[in-house]
Amino acid sequence: MSYGECFVERLGALGETLNAKAKGNARADRLRRTPALADETLVNDALETFGEALPGLLLESVVDPDHPGHLLLHTWNGHRTTTARKIEHGGVAYIPKNLGSGLVQSVCFALPSLPFGTPAKLISSMRDFLSTYARLQPEVADLLVAFGLATWFCDVMTVAPVLYLLGPDSAVSQALRLLGCFCRRPILLGDIDFAGLATLPRRLGATLLINQRYLGRRVQRTLLASNRRHFGLVHGSERLDLFGGKAFSCEDFPGVESGLRVSLSPTPGPLPTLSDAQEQLIARNLQARLLRYRIANYDKVPGRKIDASAFVPEMREPASTWLAPIVDCPELSESVHAEILRQSQEAAGARFFDPKCVVVEAALFFCHDPDPAHFFVGELAEKVNDLLKGRHEESNLSDKKAGLVLRELGVYGERVATGYKIVVTDALREQIHQLAFAYQVPPAVDGVRRCRYCRVFQVLPEVG
Ligand SMILES: [Zn+2]
Repeated sequence: MSYGECFVERLGALGETLNAKAKGNARADRLRRTPALADETLVNDALETFGEALPGLLLESVVDPDHPGHLLLHTWNGHRTTTARKIEHGGVAYIPKNLGSGLVQSVCFALPSLPFGTPAKLISSMRDFLSTYARLQPEVADLLVAFGLATWFCDVMTVAPVLYLLGPDSAVSQALRLLGCFCRRPILLGDIDFAGLATLPRRLGATLLINQRYLGRRVQRTLLASNRRHFGLVHGSERLDLFGGKAFSCEDFPGVESGLRVSLSPTPGPLPTLSDAQEQLIARNLQARLLRYRIANYDKVPGRKIDASAFVPEMREPASTWLAPIVDCPELSESVHAEILRQSQEAAGARFFDPKCVVVEAALFFCHDPDPAHFFVGELAEKVNDLLKGRHEESNLSDKKAGLVLRELGVYGERVATGYKIVVTDALREQIHQLAFAYQVPPAVDGVRRCRYCRVFQVLPEVG
């Protein structure tokens, strides 16, 4: 028996042992059939949940129209809706979570879902709402609409959408309030600390709309680390789950984070007033229709292939998050695609000055040298500085720094009397080409084949 067969057999035996233990134990039996819920709470033999994607059924938490402080569970099967305190499916009973205390109390849950007409109609009502209450450039309004839609589907995507808003305080605050009317489970936050974030219950998937320009380092790091769905956050004994869309007010655009940015212009007069009553009415209406849009498209969105090959690598996954929910709306998706491309090109421009990219570019130059037995780090630094000078960049890279960057990239040489020497072998050529492609340095992606390794990495990978 091979190791693989033996392993499979052992797994089978383990499964049988587990099954035997579960027999006769109603609670374990339920959990076995719904393994994703193994850490959920059972109350009176029912599973408490904020929502579940079950085979053939999407359960959603909605506000109880008669008791706004309480939640109900809601489904739509393509023909009719069910909204109840308890819903049974596949032999398991589900009930909504109690809102309890902490930040979850600030979440604005949707009302039971309503028909949305067509995607175009839904999008047009979101656009109309934005143009009534904010004076936005059309491409900015489109990004806000796409962000809103992306928040309804990020629980089936790899990364959550992140939006940075720059501009006068009043314009940014108004934009965040408007986003609060059509994002999924939004929370508007003016000031937040780590302890506050830690009160958010797991698997809630709230959209955090943060109107605080200077976040503490710990809070900022935690928020950004929470945007990959498959990775948990553990701080000491605490497990945090902050996965969901995020919009930040910011003073300067951050450089490297994988979010999209919008710049809001100062308006000549005061912004239109949005009263609390109007805000609530619009939010209820838009969110109920967006909830139906989510339920109707939940299974389709994750399978959509988005051609993100035109974007820099760090923007390809976010591009799928932003574009997959709107492929049925060609006009909006074209506008958002163009904006992602513009921001991607800006990021690509920054690569011309990034030490890692320029070091890789210089190393690639030595790999393409016809007489390439070896090169010294001093020569590499000289080439790097020539490249920087040619780009009117004043900073200089020292020999030492060039060597450090090279080692960070995983390229090692040997110390000899005349300096730090890198021997150019076939393996090194291949490694440098891989790095050059990964960092998209200009000579690696200009379509010119300078050697046989250039050819290998000519095709850009497609991200689905
Ligand atoms: Zn080459």
